[in-house]
Amino acid sequence: MTVTVTGLVRRFGAATALDGVSFALAEGEFAALLGPSGSGKSTLLRILAGLEGSEAGEVRIAGRSMAGVPARARNIGVVFQNYALFRHMTIFENVAFGLRVRPRAARPDRAETARRVRELLQLVQIPELERRYPDQVSGGQRQRVALARALAIEPHLLLLDEPFGALDALVRRDVRRWLRGLHDRLGLTTLLVTHDQEEAMELADRVAVMERGRVVQFDPPAALLAAPATPFVAGFIGHAA
Ligand code: ADP
Ligand code: MG
Repeated sequence: MTVTVTGLVRRFGAATALDGVSFALAEGEFAALLGPSGSGKSTLLRILAGLEGSEAGEVRIAGRSMAGVPARARNIGVVFQNYALFRHMTIFENVAFGLRVRPRAARPDRAETARRVRELLQLVQIPELERRYPDQVSGGQRQRVALARALAIEPHLLLLDEPFGALDALVRRDVRRWLRGLHDRLGLTTLLVTHDQEEAMELADRVAVMERGRVVQFDPPAALLAAPATPFVAGFIGHAA
């Protein structure tokens, strides 16, 4: 789905987390939101997901205003850094939970749930792990479970907030490559939040660079390198993480 964000403002007391953010995502695009810690990335993602509101501005998904639309009705898959899996539930149950958060009328019955969960575990290539608990699998595998759960609602938009943060460098490279491959197969509009310029530049078709609550440039990696819009962008892109 296309996403259009116009003039978003979000304040926390005297602090301005988002200071007039505007940008648009094309259908099927893989974009990264890149910026240093505290630049407003997570706040922006939470507002897109409907988990919090804004003081001003507008979010449109597929042309439709999201004003007053609750999170569960937005059809957005979200993966956070800590995966937030339920430790007392098996991997099967964790993914099945993703199907239960839908509006009541759209919830599948038991047999259909089992079929869908297995299909999702196939998709993320861990079908053999359904009976295990999160503590019994690796970080990269937990990452896949979190993604399967996010995909369970058949989202129109996938939001990932620093999803590789808890992984060590080698696993991270594998999971990155796998995520990009999965995106290319599904063609799902994806926004990846990261403070790691290498990750953004390697994975995304376009990178939105955030500086103190604003998107200061949104361009393909090559264009960011060739023609940074501000000294901040030049400095941030130029330094390896
Ligand atoms: P990022 O994800 O880029 O690190 P955040 O969106 O988490 O940035 O935060 C942006 C700014 O908003 C920071 O200054 C942060 O301290 C502030 N902020 C975010 N969430 C809250 C909150 N719930 N209460 C107060 N301040 C917040
Ligand atoms: Mg953050």
